[in-house]
Amino acid sequence: METIQDVKTRVYKFGNKTADGNSKMKNLLGGKGANLAEMGLIGIPVPPGFTITTEVCTEYNKFGQDAVVEMITKEVEDAIENIESIMGSKFGDKENPLLVSVRSGARVSMPGMMDTVLNLGLNDEVVVGLAEKSGNERFAWDSYRRFIQMYGDVVLGMKPESKEDIDPFEEIMEALKHKRQIELDTQFTIQDLKDLCYDFKDAVKKRTGHDFPTNPWDQLWGAVIAVFNSWNSGRAIYYRNMNGYPSEWGTAVNVQAMVYGNMGDNSGTGVCFTRDAGTGENLFNGEYLINAQGEDVVAGTRTPQQITKIGSLRWAELAKVDEAERAALYPSLEELMPEIYKELNDYQQKLENHYKDMQDMEFTMQDGKLWILQTRNGKRTGAAMVKIAIDKLKEGSITEKEALLRIEPNKLDELLHPIFDPKALSTANVIAQGLPASPGAATGQIVFFADEASKFKASILVRIETSPEDLEGMNIAKGILTARGGMTSHAAVVARGMGKCCVSGAGALKINYKNRTLTVDGHEYHEGDWISLNGSTGNIIEGKVATIEPELSGEFAEIMELSDKYATMAVRTNADSPKDAKIARSFGAQGIGLTRTEHMFFEVDRIKAMREMILSDTVKGRKQALDQLLPMQRDDFEGIFEAMAGLPVTVRLLDPPLHEFVPHALAQQKELAEEMHISLEAVKSKIVELEEFNPMLGHRGCRLGITYPEITEMQARAIIEAALNLKARGIEAKPEIMVPLIGTIAEFESQEGIIRATAQKVFEERNDTIEFLVGTMIEIPRAALTANLIAEKADFFSFGTNDLTQMAFGYSRDDAGKFLPIYIEKGILKVDPFEVLDQEGVGQLVQMGTEKGRSVKPNLKVGICGEHGGEPNSVEFCFNTGLNYVSCSPYRVPIARIASAQAAIKKQG
Ligand code: ADP
Ligand code: MG
Ligand code: MG
Repeated sequence: METIQDVKTRVYKFGNKTADGNSKMKNLLGGKGANLAEMGLIGIPVPPGFTITTEVCTEYNKFGQDAVVEMITKEVEDAIENIESIMGSKFGDKENPLLVSVRSGARVSMPGMMDTVLNLGLNDEVVVGLAEKSGNERFAWDSYRRFIQMYGDVVLGMKPESKEDIDPFEEIMEALKHKRQIELDTQFTIQDLKDLCYDFKDAVKKRTGHDFPTNPWDQLWGAVIAVFNSWNSGRAIYYRNMNGYPSEWGTAVNVQAMVYGNMGDNSGTGVCFTRDAGTGENLFNGEYLINAQGEDVVAGTRTPQQITKIGSLRWAELAKVDEAERAALYPSLEELMPEIYKELNDYQQKLENHYKDMQDMEFTMQDGKLWILQTRNGKRTGAAMVKIAIDKLKEGSITEKEALLRIEPNKLDELLHPIFDPKALSTANVIAQGLPASPGAATGQIVFFADEASKFKASILVRIETSPEDLEGMNIAKGILTARGGMTSHAAVVARGMGKCCVSGAGALKINYKNRTLTVDGHEYHEGDWISLNGSTGNIIEGKVATIEPELSGEFAEIMELSDKYATMAVRTNADSPKDAKIARSFGAQGIGLTRTEHMFFEVDRIKAMREMILSDTVKGRKQALDQLLPMQRDDFEGIFEAMAGLPVTVRLLDPPLHEFVPHALAQQKELAEEMHISLEAVKSKIVELEEFNPMLGHRGCRLGITYPEITEMQARAIIEAALNLKARGIEAKPEIMVPLIGTIAEFESQEGIIRATAQKVFEERNDTIEFLVGTMIEIPRAALTANLIAEKADFFSFGTNDLTQMAFGYSRDDAGKFLPIYIEKGILKVDPFEVLDQEGVGQLVQMGTEKGRSVKPNLKVGICGEHGGEPNSVEFCFNTGLNYVSCSPYRVPIARIASAQAAIKKQG
């Protein structure tokens, strides 16, 4: 049994230019805590505080609340004392109170996923002391009502009762605003704020049956435990799963002295980015609000102002605000508080230089003094990721290797999605304009609630504003549109992190959740109506807009070129048509690793001949049908070889069970019977005959070619003739013929014999030759185990990791949907092994197969052609196993190329 370890530090202090931790300790202190410590060390003004480590969260999950509180009480009391002595105030004191914030912070940033409480330490007496000490009664009561609100929400579970309802505290505030005929929180009188505090506490009592806690220490422990609990909230779990973060990581808790942005017009709060997180442009930008506290900016309830003047001018243009109004009502921080702006600008440069990466920062100004509350490597879109890496490389602040390692391969996916066709855009009906919060092109049907995002195949989530609860729906929707909130609103930040198209703060939209309508300029749109969003311009467009394929150009092309300098393992593609082959080649594929020939048999004119072949009872009948298929196959191969001229193309012989090709609907069966001049009964009985209990382990793969050698003959002939035809036209084809589903060497020998004999025949007929290889897929465990025998004969191996995974685990891929999600939920498997190669198990078969194969043929060419070939972790594994290439679908080629370069760089160190 595990026991609690006594001798280790569980609480790390920071403040007053010293810190127990630093930025390298993210695993232990969480990203927020580690960076707060680091900022302290490099002389950035951060309010003092301390971090309870992520290990304590893990201990909490194991040993429970009482044990953990007892274990850290002493250290926490010490650390609070430390804050008290730096701040010259006392936690819980009625005359000179110290207030703190309690903030979550995992190793990686999870924006808005977990909880934070501000102004902790207030009660009915302390609030009076705070008012006297600050000489600002309004500020004291504003802080108190915010505290009750946040603590009520985060710790006491005061959430809206249903999705159409609003937050219970908001409801009280809205009612009071209505009564007092005011619009903004800042218009409440002191008496209003006092009333709100009492009404809030009443609401808590009514709903929970308990009084709001008055003892600051009780409040503190309540908040600490709530932060630990938030690690296992539904939305945090969803976010972790989405990003593949393990649940063992846990969150740290940061407790920090409050600084107050709500002290009046000389105070405020904001969020800023050292570069543009949407486009990557090297331009300092951000948003702030005067007389406000932290959450107000991201919550999107008030229209935030821009930090820089240039940002403000750009914003005004999009928001259609004229210059006089902008300067009077929405001035930039640069114009309004030039001194503070200058200081902030210095810090942002200092922090970006220090971290050598784009920073996302939070700050608060208290009565003219600037404090930095957070910095982290900013979330960004795929396009911004690429541009920033290339720009920092050109600036000389990072090396080529560092630039390549900055690329998250999977995020390149965003750059490979279709974009709006400029022609279609020029005639589009733009109904409103919002902020270009996250670039991209999205077309879909309107939904108003996140949990209804899957109602349509393509949906656009339309909200007044989004909140962390909406995460899953945001992920499902094609695009996100909000009426409120700026470029740093929840919707904008999360969308950029997901690489999802988002238009925010479109003030002209009137959204009614109850009626499920969106009204713009008197025109009403309903759930299910089609709209399109242009995340790069902020345009909201009626109906659908046509799209075109993206290109590999600009910085994207530059980083891909750079990857070739370091990658040693090649990337091929899986392509069954000349069109796919061309796309893949334009993305840099160095050949084809898998062409599935069966796909070619499903087209209308071919499936008939195929069925005739299958239904025929004689070799002669089958050959006749195959003779019809031969020219079609040959044409297909010619097209593909031509698209890949000069590069190797692996063609796999027929693989699926024949049952997949016969008609299952009665009408089609009748038709077939007529065409073949046989009875319907004969057709039916043949189909019944083909039925198998376990088709994936049945009559398929090389077993087809062994029972019907004429199929292999026809395919080999089509491949060789196609290559010879191209040669006659001066185009080089490099066919690699691949036998599927080998389990024994004898199976391979049988097929290889037919292929080579057929090729020889064709060479003689044509009086010409070409070079070609005959190899095999390794996808049955027995093939991996006997790879040394198979390599005696095979020219190459290609690991078919889809089937290999299926057979190594004994999971039917077609049935795994019933239990795999539950396996992952219960932690029995960490990830879906059909997506991410199981290195521990299936990986051993790949390693063993490669080693055994090369033990007899040291230069044996080895590749992989399962779905895993485009998955970055699996690509790294393939590199480390010594594979010559990975092969993946055309759109994953750039991802695999970067992953291949990264694997090489990591190995070099
Ligand atoms: P999140 O991870 O959701 O951003 P944070 O812990 O960063 O949550 O805090 C939420 C907001 O409260 C931020 O705007 C932050 O700057 C602000 N905040 C946190 N702690 C303090 C503090 N001690 N004083 C003033 N503002 C704070
Ligand atoms: Mg934050
Ligand atoms: Mg297979």
